[in-house]
Amino acid sequence: MATSGGGSSYRNGTPRGSLKVDRPLSVNSNPKTSVKSKPFSSSGPRRSSTGSIVSSTGAANDDAGVPGRVRVAVRLRPRSAEEMMADADFADCVELQPELKRLRLRRNNWDSDTYEFDEVLTEFASQKRVYEVVAKPVVESVLDGYNGTIMAYGQTGTGKTYTLGCLGEEDTAARGIMVRAMEDILADVSLETDSVCVSYLQLYMESIQDLLDPSNDNISIVEDPKTGDVSLPGANIVEIRNQRSFVELLRLGEAHRFAANTKLNAESSRSHAILMVHVERSVKGKHSALSGENGNNAHIKTLKPAIIRKGKLVVVDLAGSERIDKSGSEGHTLEEAKSINLSLSALGKCINALAENSVHVPIRDSKLTRLLRDSFGGTARTSLVITIGPSPRHRGETASTIMFGQRAMKVENMLKLKEEFDYKGLSRRLDVQLDKLIAEHERQQKSFEDEIKRITADAKNRISEVERSYADALEKDRLKYQKDYMESIKKLEEQLVNNQQKHGIEKVSVGHKDGGSALTSNIESPMISTIKEVSELKKLLQKESLLRKAAEEEVNSLKSQLAQWKMSETSENSKISKLREMLEDEARQKEKLEGEIAILHSQLLQISFEADETRRRLDRGGFGKVPGDLDSLLSQVKHQQQESGNGEKASIAKLFEQVGLQKILSLLESEDADLQIHAVKVVANLAAEETNQGKIVEAGGLTSLLMLLRSSENETIHRVSAGAIANLAMNETNQELIMDQRGISLLSMTAANAEDPQTLRMVAGAIANLCGNDKLQMKLRGEGGIKALLGMVRCRNPDVLAQVARGIANFAKCESRASTQGTKIGRSLLIEDGALPWIVQNANNEASPIRRHIELALCHLAQHEANAKDMISGGALWELVRISRDCSREDIRTLAHRTLTSSSAFLSEMRRLRIDY
Ligand code: ADP
Ligand code: MG
Repeated sequence: MATSGGGSSYRNGTPRGSLKVDRPLSVNSNPKTSVKSKPFSSSGPRRSSTGSIVSSTGAANDDAGVPGRVRVAVRLRPRSAEEMMADADFADCVELQPELKRLRLRRNNWDSDTYEFDEVLTEFASQKRVYEVVAKPVVESVLDGYNGTIMAYGQTGTGKTYTLGCLGEEDTAARGIMVRAMEDILADVSLETDSVCVSYLQLYMESIQDLLDPSNDNISIVEDPKTGDVSLPGANIVEIRNQRSFVELLRLGEAHRFAANTKLNAESSRSHAILMVHVERSVKGKHSALSGENGNNAHIKTLKPAIIRKGKLVVVDLAGSERIDKSGSEGHTLEEAKSINLSLSALGKCINALAENSVHVPIRDSKLTRLLRDSFGGTARTSLVITIGPSPRHRGETASTIMFGQRAMKVENMLKLKEEFDYKGLSRRLDVQLDKLIAEHERQQKSFEDEIKRITADAKNRISEVERSYADALEKDRLKYQKDYMESIKKLEEQLVNNQQKHGIEKVSVGHKDGGSALTSNIESPMISTIKEVSELKKLLQKESLLRKAAEEEVNSLKSQLAQWKMSETSENSKISKLREMLEDEARQKEKLEGEIAILHSQLLQISFEADETRRRLDRGGFGKVPGDLDSLLSQVKHQQQESGNGEKASIAKLFEQVGLQKILSLLESEDADLQIHAVKVVANLAAEETNQGKIVEAGGLTSLLMLLRSSENETIHRVSAGAIANLAMNETNQELIMDQRGISLLSMTAANAEDPQTLRMVAGAIANLCGNDKLQMKLRGEGGIKALLGMVRCRNPDVLAQVARGIANFAKCESRASTQGTKIGRSLLIEDGALPWIVQNANNEASPIRRHIELALCHLAQHEANAKDMISGGALWELVRISRDCSREDIRTLAHRTLTSSSAFLSEMRRLRIDY
């Protein structure tokens, strides 16, 4: 809506709507009526929009706008079942003449008023037809970039919500305008370039609440002072990509509306529901001609922003129009009555003002009128459907609804295309392009640098090559000249010899002939020249030999340098080896010192022990012999051991404290068998306490105990050591240590030789503990652990058997764990080592500890299908069936049952044996 004073977009449109006429026929002759031309046709702004001019400022709309009157359709709701009963004897208060687009409202039995509308929809009008006539042209305008409004006005119960908001989930034909509009929108837009977003709101008591997030209420309306556009920045906006999500959203909004209204003690007929659909589309190809299409101008083309059209569709389901009159009389609080009415009556007033072309349109009086500013008297294409009921009882409401519709028909809007340049999109595109260019530049720079490097390396290579060939050539020349020189010397020497011979002969002949001086002088001149030549050559020779000498000197100096360098290298090497030797010496020294420290330590212990002893004796006032040897300790240990009963543990702890662990352990190696036995017992007692175990192992006690198994012949020592080892074997780290020190062989050996059931019990207990370590399975079995366990069953003592059974159960448990983790495949090692017959035999042993362990072992074995065949043939299946039925422990029973039913081999065998399971 726009005030008639300030809004340039508002045009004083000629009210082309129908007039209320008392004499229907005279209306037809009204030349001004436009209802005869097809109302709601799409010939409005749709076509004219394509011719709009893009202004240089970036605004892309046609400022003038296109006149577009508010279109009004009336829809009559069919009689409801209740009305059929109550109003059976009365005629409807209205009579429709759809072909004339007229409606007759009965005043009384003989008189009626006739009204014309843009469209008259009878009670038989389908939802599809209503959509096509009322809403489709508006939706098409929105898709073309115009704002659009579809609004329903009427008394509560006349079908506003049915017309607009019916989801049609049970009957597709009943789908209302909102659903159908979105279907058309989604069919027309392209989701790659366009966007469709939705907000859904409720206006109640002048407060706007978000139906998509009800906690978000009191949303404020923001008006753009320049364009006059209204927006709700606080409302949730949800992007719609498919019809299903939109229907889901409508349903959610409806649920929130119901919940919110229940909380406020309101009802939907008192609030206005507003759906806003924002459609943004980019217009393609429109300006390509302007920016040039040849390749050179491609970059310019990208600088042109695309044009986006932003249409907004507003669908308004108004509160019941009866509220206008009734709110005061229905016992509403004053505040509520004011608010309920405020928006609706303000809307009525604005429409009146616009219809009458009044100077002042009171838009600012209510939130509804502010929200609908663009819909009435603004730039939107607006379609109003007024809904009426047939009942004569509501004649008054029906009449006032009709009057509202009549007035609304006089409101003229100026439709304007909402187009703008997509600068954001352009900026995004430019960003992408810039990034591409930066990357390209970086790549080019890198390849340029690489090229420079390559060229430099090339040049260097070439220079060194030239230098090398130059040196070669020089050397060659030198050799050649040297050779030439030698040859010429040789020649000259030969010549000289020749000449001298010649000279001698001639001298002889001169001596024979007198007066031969003329001849002599004749001979003399070539001689002189030869001598000269020789002396010159000699000079040359000297010079050359000087040069040679210099060269030789140079070579010699280089040689000496090389020798020097070699010498320094060997000296460095010898230094290194010396240092290495020193290091080794140091290491040896360190070892020696450590040994000495250990000796000193033990001496210190001894001394401190002796000192304590002396102190104690002095304290006791005795003057007896001060013991400085092991004898005293021996007697003390013996003495302590002899103490029995409750005090034993305490005294051992005391002994441990006083004597020191090292000392006690050293006694394990004592020559005195008696003392050795006592010492083992002390250690075994200490090993029974978890707190001591670490210290014992650390001090080498475990090794000593294992040694005793090997070295001692004494059964008691075997028994007690095995007991101590069994205790230490409860801890995982110790288990590994025992295995590392070949403990399993020692235990196996002890097991094979022992007769005493107690010894066997201890050994079996130790092995059973080792069986429970997942990491040691293979090693334990490899070193004969399982065989040793099974060997001990020769002793029929139930305590021994219970330990054997425990060991087997532990082993089977680890195996089944490994099988489930996939680290073990193939048959159980227990079966491989022949344990199955004993297991089956003892599965029902009357001693419950034995039985329990074996039952568990069977369940574990059965969990792995690879064991099934052996278990079936060995009779283990029967035992499992028995366990699953009779075992007194429920958890084992269930485990057995579950194991049986999850193995296909067992199931099929049971079926074959007709075991009912
Ligand atoms: P309002 O929203 O105006 O209060 P409703 O849309 O809730 O009214 O309609 C009231 C009842 O009438 C609903 O049960 C609705 O299904 C039914 N109704 C309304 N219009 C029609 C119609 N054209 N055809 C069939 N049923 C209708
Ligand atoms: Mg309703």
